[in-house]
Amino acid sequence: MPRKIDFCSKWLLKFDNTDRVCSRWLTKGKTSNSFRCIVCNTDDLSCGNGGWYDLKKHFDLPKHIQCMKDVFGSIPLVVSPHPSASLSSNTNDDSVCTTASSTSVNQTRISFVNIYNDQRSLTRVVKVTRAECMWAMATSQLGFSYNSSQFLPEVFRFMFPGSQIATDYSLRSRKMSYVISHGTVYYLTNELIKDVRKAYGFTLFLMR
Ligand SMILES: [Zn+2]
Repeated sequence: MPRKIDFCSKWLLKFDNTDRVCSRWLTKGKTSNSFRCIVCNTDDLSCGNGGWYDLKKHFDLPKHIQCMKDVFGSIPLVVSPHPSASLSSNTNDDSVCTTASSTSVNQTRISFVNIYNDQRSLTRVVKVTRAECMWAMATSQLGFSYNSSQFLPEVFRFMFPGSQIATDYSLRSRKMSYVISHGTVYYLTNELIKDVRKAYGFTLFLMR
């Protein structure tokens, strides 16, 4: 019997049919010869017989192409180590949105998120991204379901017919799930690991 092909980590850096790296949607599965698509939210899919061609078969599926459009849409999702650095050269003006509860003179406080006053002129893409980030934070903070965002782009377009931000807003349930599960949660988990590593000792509670 021929040997099954193992998942190869180099595939993460190969380009898919969008001419971008596969790591945007691809992760290794639980077994050595499987993979998962985090955009389609699949269970383990086999790459044991065709290797890279099994992946290619997946990313050429109409369903995957549609899911990629839902998540990455017209607005690029960019991971930046310094949120304000890529937006402006003015480093004194911090525009980071946080869920912290402190208040200061320069910020307007609303119930779930602090929005720092920002004097810079932002591009349309950045304004849309900020709007989507705020709704993603509100959704996790208030415990809304991902599905509650499914028709918000249409609702916003009707509510604010003259708004360019509402026109470009595209945060539906699939994109929301991707951003929170693989962005926010990934970041917070790493922060927790960093804290635990720095601690002299810690207690672990397992909840079932
Ligand atoms: Zn997929």
